[in-house]
Amino acid sequence: MPTLKLFKKSHSKSNASQEHPAPDVPANDKEDVPRPITTTSDDAVPEYSDSLKEAWAAAHRDLPKAQGAEKLLNTIGNVQGALTLSPGQLTVVDTLATPAKALMDTTKFADSIHKGVNAFMEAVPPLMKALDEVGNIHPFIKVAVLAFKAVYTLEKKRRENDKRILALYVEMKDTMEVLLSLRGIADPDQIAPDGKSIRGRMQKLCEDVAQDIDKCAEVCDTYISRKILIKIFAGPIWEGRLVEFVDVFTKRRGEFEFAMALHTTAGVDAANLKLETVDKRTAEISQKMDAMRQLFEEFVTPQQKVLTAKMEAMGGYSVLEDEQAMKELASAESALSTGSGPESRSGGGRAFNFVELQQEINADPKDAIEKNSEFFNRKFDIQKREIVDEITRAFNRGGDRVILAILEGPHDRIVDPDIYEMWKEMRWRGSVKAQRFVLALRDHYIDKAAGDSGSITGPDSWALKYINLGRMRSILEAFDDDASGFVTVNEVNSLAQSRPLRWSLPHWIAYWAIGWQMTCTAYCVKIEEIFDAMISLSSEVLPENKQAINKYVDAIWRPVTIFVQSIEREEGSEELRSKFEPHVTAEESRLRRNFEVLNYRIDSSDTVRVISGEGRLETTLFPMFYLALKRDLEKISLARKYVLSEDELSENSTAILPIGDVAWDRMASLKGIFKQQNLEARDQFEVFAKGLYNTASTPGAFHQLQDLSEPIPCREEIIPDPDSIPLSILHNPLKKRHEIDFAAYDPPELTLSPAEGAHPLLGVYYGFIYDGKSPSDPMMKFTLGKGDDEDTFVASGTHYRGGWYKDYKITGNWGSPLEDGKIPVEFKIAYSANYQSNTELKGLFDPEENSLRGTMAMQFRRMTGEFVFKRDPDFVRLYPAPCVMNARKRWEFATTLVLDRVRQRAWSTKRILQRIRDGKRFVELALRQYLGRTYGWDEMAELLNLLNCLYEADIRFYGSLVYIHLEKTTIFDSIVCNNCFTIPEGSRIICLDCRNETTLVNLCSEPECVNCTIKFHIPGRKPHLPTHGMFKVHRFVFLRDMARVGGEAKSSLEFARRHFAYIGVEEGPECAHCKTVVSPPCWFCSDCQEETYICDDCEYRGLAFGEKHTKMHTVVRVFERGEEKERLTEERLQFLEDKLGRMEETLVEVRQTLAILVEKSGAPSRSEPVANGDVLAG
Ligand SMILES: [Zn+2]
Ligand SMILES: [Zn+2]
Ligand SMILES: [Zn+2]
Ligand SMILES: [Zn+2]
Repeated sequence: MPTLKLFKKSHSKSNASQEHPAPDVPANDKEDVPRPITTTSDDAVPEYSDSLKEAWAAAHRDLPKAQGAEKLLNTIGNVQGALTLSPGQLTVVDTLATPAKALMDTTKFADSIHKGVNAFMEAVPPLMKALDEVGNIHPFIKVAVLAFKAVYTLEKKRRENDKRILALYVEMKDTMEVLLSLRGIADPDQIAPDGKSIRGRMQKLCEDVAQDIDKCAEVCDTYISRKILIKIFAGPIWEGRLVEFVDVFTKRRGEFEFAMALHTTAGVDAANLKLETVDKRTAEISQKMDAMRQLFEEFVTPQQKVLTAKMEAMGGYSVLEDEQAMKELASAESALSTGSGPESRSGGGRAFNFVELQQEINADPKDAIEKNSEFFNRKFDIQKREIVDEITRAFNRGGDRVILAILEGPHDRIVDPDIYEMWKEMRWRGSVKAQRFVLALRDHYIDKAAGDSGSITGPDSWALKYINLGRMRSILEAFDDDASGFVTVNEVNSLAQSRPLRWSLPHWIAYWAIGWQMTCTAYCVKIEEIFDAMISLSSEVLPENKQAINKYVDAIWRPVTIFVQSIEREEGSEELRSKFEPHVTAEESRLRRNFEVLNYRIDSSDTVRVISGEGRLETTLFPMFYLALKRDLEKISLARKYVLSEDELSENSTAILPIGDVAWDRMASLKGIFKQQNLEARDQFEVFAKGLYNTASTPGAFHQLQDLSEPIPCREEIIPDPDSIPLSILHNPLKKRHEIDFAAYDPPELTLSPAEGAHPLLGVYYGFIYDGKSPSDPMMKFTLGKGDDEDTFVASGTHYRGGWYKDYKITGNWGSPLEDGKIPVEFKIAYSANYQSNTELKGLFDPEENSLRGTMAMQFRRMTGEFVFKRDPDFVRLYPAPCVMNARKRWEFATTLVLDRVRQRAWSTKRILQRIRDGKRFVELALRQYLGRTYGWDEMAELLNLLNCLYEADIRFYGSLVYIHLEKTTIFDSIVCNNCFTIPEGSRIICLDCRNETTLVNLCSEPECVNCTIKFHIPGRKPHLPTHGMFKVHRFVFLRDMARVGGEAKSSLEFARRHFAYIGVEEGPECAHCKTVVSPPCWFCSDCQEETYICDDCEYRGLAFGEKHTKMHTVVRVFERGEEKERLTEERLQFLEDKLGRMEETLVEVRQTLAILVEKSGAPSRSEPVANGDVLAG
């Protein structure tokens, strides 16, 4: 047997290490180790030797896992699986396995891992094929093979492969390779000396390995999805976790090898089972892990290198504490990792959160892995099911040729019998020109179908109509992704094998020739219909949801429409559609099932590729868009009944954008392929996939005022009923409705002193936290109650801070009284939604004043200040900040307070009116803050003063009004006015003349913005002028409708201009509201039946709205015709130029005359100009 030589090698090694027995192995274990057997011969008895039985017994003794048994297994594993193979099998293993099995040093390991990583993607497919064959004999390995296949396929679908992960997967692969040795065991029921069959032994092992593979992939997936900053700052912890798998897989390999050795060799030299080799095995693992750690440094991604260099330049790891520096690094990271589709995203991404980032860096990988676990396993299950489905399909399809080993020519490798025949007949080699192929294929089928009678019959004769040169491009693309112009044997096979069950090849080719395009067309129509449904629902949703839904629809409309509008449509006939229907429906349910497993939660484009499956993206893109939109439409329908979280339909939560990203990635890779073939990408995209990527690949081809076809109105039945939609489709909890907070004025619990028997410190407080000379936020109110522990207190509530209502919790404790009777307190205000506002307070409770005073610190904002809380709002209202307090101020405060109290007692009208005025002013100023308008110094002072004097109840009440107002008004918060840079509120103006640029010119309705001139710092871009044609809307106009609304506005504007030109300015029309005669500049309604003109002032103040002319109408700004004015200017310039030209000519003449005169004075005979002097001289 060829196995014996190998034994010798390890034999000598075990002898060498005999002098150094493993220190941690108990002595009694060693006694059980069988002594070496020296008799080995080629004609060894088929039974296992006694000593082997002993070895087996030793290996299976109940020993502490990390010690005896496991080490013994490892020892045995070292003996190496190759001993089990016949020479023929050895070649298989040799070509697949990494050679390194002997004891190597770190460098050698590194070397072999390097090679393994580089060859991984190519090495796995043949291995999987071989494993499938083994799996047919020994089905128990299938569970491990499936897990491994799923890992490989997931990795293949990643946009970028991380070499650190690949290095681990190489370990996984090496373990799987050992299973190939099972080929040497024909009978899975062969019994080993312990009475167990190979099946019995391996079944459990394979299940365990499948679990290890699963776990490893889960950890890797979590690691990959970490931010680069996490990989930098928490790298060693994560890498330690990853490297553990080297140990896991090396040990598993040993277990496999040992189990198989027992079954494949009759006379195993049990000398090799010596425990002494344990040392080596352990050493090997630790060396390997060291090598892996070193390689992890080397395998760092280019992005991580860039970021690490930046971090080091900023001062190394210490920047971790520096919020500003980390913010800079985070933005550098997002700049590094932006996707390939700049036009597909409208920007955004999550705002930087220092606290969150720190928490993530300091988190235990275990928690992160656990958090990711469910999502990963769902993704992993989808992948496994896709693989199983594929195998089942291939198994059930039938009709394929069985490929025999003898090869006459390339045609022998063709699976489909028809193409095989044709290929053979045509004597083609490995590939053939596409045109010839399509023609030959058509002729072949026609000949076959025509038979003897000459007429084309047969079930698939309809399909032959579509296999023609006119559709060659589409057919070719089906065979050949890159449209190289040639069809190869492999391409023919993979297309034939991907066809649906029970479909003939002509049927399948007809699908590619026309069915695919028809399917896309049908989905495009459905997608447009969904957009229409979303837009019509947007006016029915609860006001709280409106803003988020408008934003959502606008954010996703472009990334979808850029493809929907690009593809050339082909409706086809009803009959033809029915031919393809089963496949289309099956594909849609497959995709839906995959989406549903993940509850449509898509974290990245990699996950989209898992859902999409193996086929070409072009076939799944529109169904995926459709399904994801349909789910979002259901959410919008729910928004009619419930208040959804803002995150529910944000850019981060919809599946649409990652799907779009995948399409952009595909486009980028196509670009690369075209370039490689020296093809002009421009020309290719025009025809590739019926122009699907044409618009996206042309910069600027899809701009905001794009003239699109009329939107397809949605059918009533596609709008889902909110009552039939389960709330489980939502990813975030529902929110409460906004209401006017009348409860703010409920009679207060007048608990100036705490309840009987309670600590004097507990009870109600009103007060301020001062940031310097004034409070930074409105008055706070809280009621301290007793906490769970001794000397602790708690409180919770909601208050208005930093412009928003925030939920908070207070926890704190008090100490023992000081000498002066004051009690030290420490407490914390923690916000659930916004860590950055968390505040720590430290101070004293003064029983005499009945107050809390002290200092505060906001850790993450690095802010400090003071606080004062008292039992009565009037004691803190108008109270000067502690840091500016002096005797005079105190006196002033006392007098103000007394006066105020007197007025309050007397129910003074003045006081009441003042309070209402203050409240209204607060609403105004708060709204301005929301809309991004800056305050003047006096307004800033006014606001601070208001914060200081408004009651907590007023703040709650007027604060709730701010929210209600924001809901009722149209806030155009996805844009800013190009002149004053605030968010337009109530109305928005768009320039019609600046429409040819890629971006629009937006203005608010303030007169200085309507009449502004905007110069752009872009070379060649003309300025925006007040004379430009503009239109103004008071409603939200979706991007989809922008072009149409703009087009209508433009024709209305032309009408109004003609009108003014015709009637002359003197006898102009009247303003619809104030009835004065209007002249340009003025406004004209684009939607009213009657001609409705509005003067500038009435329009600004919104006075013209009534029953007929409503806020749904678009008005246009009528000015003197801008172009005419420009033309006049240009003419004037031309005139000046001509004039200057003529003056120059005159000047030359004058100079010449002068020169002549000068000449004449010297030489009277000359009469010619100077220039001609030389002619005369001759
Ligand atoms: Zn403005
Ligand atoms: Zn303009
Ligand atoms: Zn008017
Ligand atoms: Zn109108």
